[in-house]
Order: sequence, then structure tokens, then C-alpha cells
Amino acid sequence: MNDPSWPHEFPVLVDGRVDEGLVVLSRSGTIEGRTTGSRLRCRSLGCPGWFIGVRWETGQMMYPCSEGWCYDPSTEMIRITGGGEISARVVSPAPAGLPPLPREKWPTRDELRRGRGWRVQPAGVTVR
Ligand SMILES: [Zn+2]
Repeated sequence: MNDPSWPHEFPVLVDGRVDEGLVVLSRSGTIEGRTTGSRLRCRSLGCPGWFIGVRWETGQMMYPCSEGWCYDPSTEMIRITGGGEISARVVSPAPAGLPPLPREKWPTRDELRRGRGWRVQPAGVTVR
């Protein structure tokens, strides 16, 4: 998998997926997500990026594009850097993707842990 548009420090598994359960931080850093492992070509016309599946603690499932996030190999964390707070939508103009749900609509931690992304806890990750 030698694709110049994929962040080369971000390990890709033999089946083309990424690790499940990696920590993702929203653009402001205040909302946490976890990778589900899925990895797909971005579907925006002309965009060279890649989607990764992210289950946010808001309960929302999104596919932020690599043009709108960065992977930090030293912490193995992903940070949204462009577009909306959790959507990282950068190619299209407004609206900047779905905004986060209000906190009273978020699922409980137990509910989150039943699903992909949150059912695994990588070493060194503290759960609030
Ligand atoms: Zn894209």
C-alpha cells in the first residue's frame, strides 16, 4: 500500500483496514472518538484523501477524510484539523458537515462500549 495520499506513518493492516479503537480528537479537542477500523477512498470528486470510520462519543458515526485530519505516530492519535468539529469536511463549502449532537443526546459509556471502536481499549488509553 504505497499510496502517496495516505499518511505514511499511519499503519495499514494487511486487509487494508486500520486498527480499531485508536483515539480521535475533535477539532477543538473537546470531543473524543475511536476508529472503527474501516478505511475507504474519499468519495468527494477530485479529493485524493481517505475516509476512516470514527464512532464519536456523541454516538455519531462519521467518515472524516484524511485531508481534514492528522495522525500523530508518537501518540497513535488522530486529530481533526480541518472542516467541521467532528466531520472534518473540507472539500465541500458550507455546510461543514454534521455538527456534534448536544451532550444530553449522547449515549452512555456502557452503550458506546457495546459497539465497534469503543469495545476495545488500547493500552495507555484512559476512559473518562
Ligand atoms: Zn476527501
